[in-house]
Amino acid sequence: MMYKHGHSVLKIVDHSKYFEVKIVPALLDNYMYIIVDKYKKEAAVIDPVEPERIKDILDDEELQCTLKSAFITHHHWDHAGGNTKLLTLYPGIEIYAGDDRTEGYTKLVKNNQVLKIGNLTVCCMSSPCHTSGHMSYYVTGNHGESPALFSGDSIFLSGCGKFFEGSAAQMFDNMQTLTTLPKPTRIYCGHELTVMNLKFAYKEDPGNLDLADRLEWAKKCRTNAVPTVPSTVEEEMRFNPFVTAINATVLDELRQRRNRFRSHKKNRDSITSLTSSASTSPVDRSGAASAASSGISC
Ligand SMILES: [Zn+2]
Repeated sequence: MMYKHGHSVLKIVDHSKYFEVKIVPALLDNYMYIIVDKYKKEAAVIDPVEPERIKDILDDEELQCTLKSAFITHHHWDHAGGNTKLLTLYPGIEIYAGDDRTEGYTKLVKNNQVLKIGNLTVCCMSSPCHTSGHMSYYVTGNHGESPALFSGDSIFLSGCGKFFEGSAAQMFDNMQTLTTLPKPTRIYCGHELTVMNLKFAYKEDPGNLDLADRLEWAKKCRTNAVPTVPSTVEEEMRFNPFVTAINATVLDELRQRRNRFRSHKKNRDSITSLTSSASTSPVDRSGAASAASSGISC
């Protein structure tokens, strides 16, 4: 079923016959993800900032799967701010996080820790820089098939998260690690920023027709409220200037230009004012002040 709720339609991606990923829009440009093991009928959710919406979708689900766990990429309110509510909706659910500042977490995870969602395998990948405790989650079928990376605010499609608590060297390491993953690995990031990211990438590399085509594709998706996620590792190696930056210094300079590029774009300005005016939203948290006050946490 394709219905629009929030900034995008719900999109479902098949990952082999064993699992699927539901892409669920949240807030102004966030994504939550439901991972469903179709065989065991178990589900997990990534960054469920609007848990009621997750519950609505799962209650409608034909498979009648059971939500047993949540994986939180980082402690910012627009990712972790629904955790307390999630615990009331799903008592006993396990909430995994890599940072003890994360609201409502039940278990801390470490780099390379392996967990399960039914028969699926989840590998926790520490990805510090946007926040010091940022965690990405690499999910595969039982035998490593059809991999997916849930990258939070570390890597975006054609972009990367702001360096709030880390260095360019750390983000450079994150990008290098990304390129070691299988090329078809699908990438599900925390925000829908692809059009703006591609405009910036094209400005950095004018005349790159591949990038121009990619930008047109992304614009068309967004005109129809279709998520641009997921992309793949292979695509990011072609279209993401932060992945192809040759060293940390180049990456740092790129990030600084990207920060300035965004600030005078009308689209993001209007999102900023909307987010600021929504600061009394139930998902807002005082601990999120730095993210919420700027309206931009990514
Ligand atoms: Zn963030």
